[in-house]
Parts: sequence; structure tokens; C-alpha cells
Amino acid sequence: MTELLFLLLPLAFYSGWHSARKRYRPKKNTHKKNLDTHFVKGINYLLDERPDKALNFFLNYSDIDKYTAETFLLLGNSFRNRGEVDRALKVHQNLMARPNLNRTQKEAAMMALGKDFLAAGILDRAEKVFKELLSTKPKNSADAYLSLRQIYEQLKDWPQAIEVTKHIENKGKTQQLRIIAHYYCEMAHTDVAQGQVYSAEKYLIQAKKSYKALPRIKIIQGDIAAYQENYSKALKLYQNVIQDDAYLIAMLFKQLLFVAEKIGSSEKIYQFLVQHYQQSQDLNILEHLLELAYQSNHYDQELETILESDLQNKALSLYSIFKSSQLLESTLKQLSNKRALQLIRQALHNHLQGQLNFQCQHCGYKMNEYLWRCPICHHWDTITKLQ
Ligand SMILES: [Zn+2]
Repeated sequence: MTELLFLLLPLAFYSGWHSARKRYRPKKNTHKKNLDTHFVKGINYLLDERPDKALNFFLNYSDIDKYTAETFLLLGNSFRNRGEVDRALKVHQNLMARPNLNRTQKEAAMMALGKDFLAAGILDRAEKVFKELLSTKPKNSADAYLSLRQIYEQLKDWPQAIEVTKHIENKGKTQQLRIIAHYYCEMAHTDVAQGQVYSAEKYLIQAKKSYKALPRIKIIQGDIAAYQENYSKALKLYQNVIQDDAYLIAMLFKQLLFVAEKIGSSEKIYQFLVQHYQQSQDLNILEHLLELAYQSNHYDQELETILESDLQNKALSLYSIFKSSQLLESTLKQLSNKRALQLIRQALHNHLQGQLNFQCQHCGYKMNEYLWRCPICHHWDTITKLQ
């Protein structure tokens, strides 16, 4: 409960203000003094880790003024932050019902209430609160729009998410345009999966208008080409994406294998990866090059040179070492060497078991596959591969 200590700050300010007032205007309002002592009692419940008593106390507290309203808000927010959404809702609903709040307090209380509903997963109620709040043109409307957007993202209601995002340009215009492009891509992606290519293409045009450089647009164009069985076009588009952003090979590798299977050869993809790795020296590429070589049983002089040099000289990821040993093992004939490699491979394999390969740069959450949007902090394009 130590995090509730910060609630004492407005209280300290409040009592300081009161004692100063008393000093300059002596002998007035002893009733108020009793209320102050009473208020301190409520804070004591919090410090004693008796949140229900504290809650009841605040809900029945009659004398709401500027400072106690602030304390109520903080109390509710801190309940929400601790995952106690029921208590947060009680506090903020009680505060909203008070008749003597000024406009700023009312706006803050509504915002807090909307966030409680959002945290509780009661999305329709949350949406209603934020819309009502926005209809009053509040000072901090961007915060309400951001919360509304979170609701539409959860509901996968992309058109509404786009509309709402148009209102938050002051939160970094380029970033908002990029997110809007993602929303169009979400719709395009769903359409491709359902074979509705024409409609998907229309969404991609909108995505391009919003943020042309989003690599995801090209990926979906590649998916469309693959759907239309134009595999060489699909491959070209995927390769373009990887040339620009090597880390995206983690997401595209399955599609590359799919195209390889369809055209009946992995040679083109293998050559592309070898060349691209030699130019870029990007370890993301190496990892998948080794995987492809192993899967397609492809081992040549070029790859041997790469392995000789990189295993000795580079700090490779565990995964790359594992893939290298797998590949070497499959090419060796002599049993003793082979046994040694088997052991190394096994040890590395053990180490890699259960390892999470991707991490959100914003909140630090780790996951085992690449996602466009972090499932925890809901930021877009913040996932990177761990080396
Ligand atoms: Zn995150």
C-alpha cells in the first residue's frame, strides 16, 4: 500500500492551506476543523492497508472541495492501477454524482470513469462515457480520443479507429499517419484472407496515402500477388521489404518458404539471402539463410566460407550457432566430429527451449512471434528481434 502514500501530498497541501487560513482568520468554523481530522482518519485507513474501510469512508465523505475532489480522483486511479477496478469505479461514480464539482473536476472524473470501464473490459460503457465527455469539448480531448481508439482497436473496428486517430494529430502527426496506415492494412489483410482482392487493394491505396513507407503495405501486395498465383511478383515484393528492413524476414520467412514450394525451388530465395547477407552482414538474414540451407539441404562453398568466418569472428545469436551446428553436422562424415557437433547442437537446443525471441521496445514485453502491435502496451511497430 506504500504507493498510496502519494495521496498524502494533496492532503498535506490541503491541511497546510487550512492552517495558514486559520492563522490569518482566527476563531472561525470549528466544524471544518472536525472534518479535517475526519479526512485524516480516512487516509489512515489507507495507510493501515484497509482499503474497504477507506473506500467506505470516502464514499460517505460529505464535504467535497477542490482538494478532496483531487484526492478522490487519485484514490480511484490508484485502485485502478492496482487492478482493483470495482473499487475505482465506486470512487469515480460517487465523485461524478457530486453536485458541486466545477467543470475541470467533472471532466477529470468522467475521464477517470471511462478509463475504469475500459480497464474492466466494459467497452460499450467506456465508449459512451468518452463520447459524452468529447461532446463537451474538454481541454484534454486528445486523452479521450486515445482511450476511444484503444476501444476500437480491441473491437477491431478499424474505420472508427481511423476516424478517432484523425483527431489526435497533436500527438505526433507522422506517428498517427503511420498508425492509420496500419488500420487500412488490417482491413486489407482480412480481405486478402477472404479472397476479396479488389477491396483489399482499395484499402492499400488509402494506406499509401496515409503513410507510403509502411513496409506492411508491400507485404500485403505480395500476399495479393501470391493469392493470384503470381509468385515471382510476390517474391520480388517480399525481397524488397527485406532489403529495406532486414528484421522483417522473421515475419516473411514463412511466406518465402510458401513461394519456394509453389515455384518448386528454393534456389532463388537462397541466392537472394546469400547475396543480401554478404552485402548487409545483417545477422537477421544469416539466421534465416542457415534455416533455409538446412531445410532444403543446400550446402555450397559460399556458405562454408560464411560459416568459417562468422563462427570464428562474430558474436552470433544462440539461434544462429544452433542452426550452424545443425548444418555442419549434416555435412560431416567423420563420426567423432559429428558426435561433438551433435553434443553442441543438443546443448544449444536445450538452451533455446522456451526462449522468447521478440521484445517490445516500449514496455519490454517478450513474445515468441513478431507482431505489428504490442499486446500489452498497444504500441505499433515497437517489436524487435532479440539477438
Ligand atoms: Zn509493449
